[in-house]
Amino acid sequence: MTAAEQIQDQVFPAPIKTVEAGSAAERAGVRPGDVLLRVNGQAVTDVLAYRHLLSQGRATLEIARPQEAPRVMTGVPGTAQDHHRLFLPTAPSLDDTFTFSVEWEDPGLEFEEVLFDGIKKCANKCDFCYVHQMPRGFRKSLYIMDDDYRLSFLYGSFVTLTNLSENDIRRIEDENLSPLYVSVHTANQDLRQDMMKWWRLKVKDPQAVQIRSMIERLEQIDLYTQIVLVPERNDRENLDETVEYLSSRPNVISAAVVPIGLTSHRTNLPDVRVFSREEAQDTLRRLNVWRRQFLAERGTRFVFPSDELYLLAGEPLPSEEEYEGFPMLENGVGMIRDFLTEGVPELPAALPEPRRVILGTGTLFAESLDRAVEPLRAIGGLSIEVRAVENKTFGKVTTVAGLLTGRCFRHAVKPGEADLLIVPPTTLRYGTELMLDDVSLDDLRAELRMDIRSGGSTLGELTRVILQGAQSSGPQFGMSAHAVKDTAEPISVQVAEQNMRGQA
Ligand code: SF4
Repeated sequence: MTAAEQIQDQVFPAPIKTVEAGSAAERAGVRPGDVLLRVNGQAVTDVLAYRHLLSQGRATLEIARPQEAPRVMTGVPGTAQDHHRLFLPTAPSLDDTFTFSVEWEDPGLEFEEVLFDGIKKCANKCDFCYVHQMPRGFRKSLYIMDDDYRLSFLYGSFVTLTNLSENDIRRIEDENLSPLYVSVHTANQDLRQDMMKWWRLKVKDPQAVQIRSMIERLEQIDLYTQIVLVPERNDRENLDETVEYLSSRPNVISAAVVPIGLTSHRTNLPDVRVFSREEAQDTLRRLNVWRRQFLAERGTRFVFPSDELYLLAGEPLPSEEEYEGFPMLENGVGMIRDFLTEGVPELPAALPEPRRVILGTGTLFAESLDRAVEPLRAIGGLSIEVRAVENKTFGKVTTVAGLLTGRCFRHAVKPGEADLLIVPPTTLRYGTELMLDDVSLDDLRAELRMDIRSGGSTLGELTRVILQGAQSSGPQFGMSAHAVKDTAEPISVQVAEQNMRGQA
């Protein structure tokens, strides 16, 4: 069998999560737990390919009902190993298959995962990568370094493009996977290679690492770009050159500029540092020149500094209008302005009973939050303290709220010292009450002997949580929802977590 035939022969069984009532799949007898094997005889790598095949009109779906396979025996009979022989389960058998067809109709299937063939890993070893700066002992998912253009299209996670094959590039073009979110960092090819240090053996197509030619080749695809800025590397004149280049490409919609984030766990990693206040101010001055020019010439500011840059520089945040609809919110661009946009609602003169509230946040945002909640201090009986929580897990140098862990709050808050502790929702694993180090809010409630809740996505919502003790509707508020993956959780969750770390 040739290599091409082998690939053609591969299948990526996709477990089915739900079957829509009354759908073609239900009529055909498909049940949750069954797996999709092929569509029109072809292997399907992900939901995008699945939808693409359905969009052709007539589609025949091959479904398997997994049967538990016999357990196999380990060890060699009649030897010393015989003593310790074990029966191990093997992968479920997928021999029990059936097909059904649809024509211009959604079959009604929802899958456990969006990627059936696994996540594409990155080919780089960036100087500023958060994964390389993680302490040991966290859940495995936090150490996965993904760089998957499909997730970029589906969820807006940033990719570097360096791991693309010619087939991937053609697929992006053919299926019009637009927009994509691309970490450019610099348009200077040598400098980009020096900052990202891709592994030659992991690069499938040498063309893919040429950032300018890739942006130009993907001319039909809208690109939201980001520049992770490293002092004395890709800043100053180099930043100007990068902004100038990106703005010259019609398919580049915008560029977010995010300062490097570090942790104290940088053993055997290149020596890099964070921006000083003066450097952050200088960067904003440069970018503001471009922003004014672009606004005058093309009606958009095009380049958007992240919140962190304004906080580092100690400069006021732009107005809501200047964020032009907040397209890069998940990348930490405009989150604070968005948070402040819904101001405090009508406040009571006093609370029925005294209440001590601690608002825990990262050291970077504490001062701004303190100013924002000032009006609430007029409420009789309400004592509010904004506590700048030092990061005991990643180190002092890590100042963003989203990387605070249960351990940090254990150090920062004494048992019983308040009635309510509010933590930023970005400290919680998406859709759960678990922090990055798997400490749950319930664990903290018991240890700190107080009510603990996550805040809201806006100041108004945070105020309501403070006043009513109302449960927040989910992880929102504060710094983005970026960071990680776990084979046991849906990719969408993994991407949300990854974004929290702002990697790639
Ligand atoms: S920052 Fe992203 S692209 Fe760079 S090494 Fe880390 S995971 Fe890979």
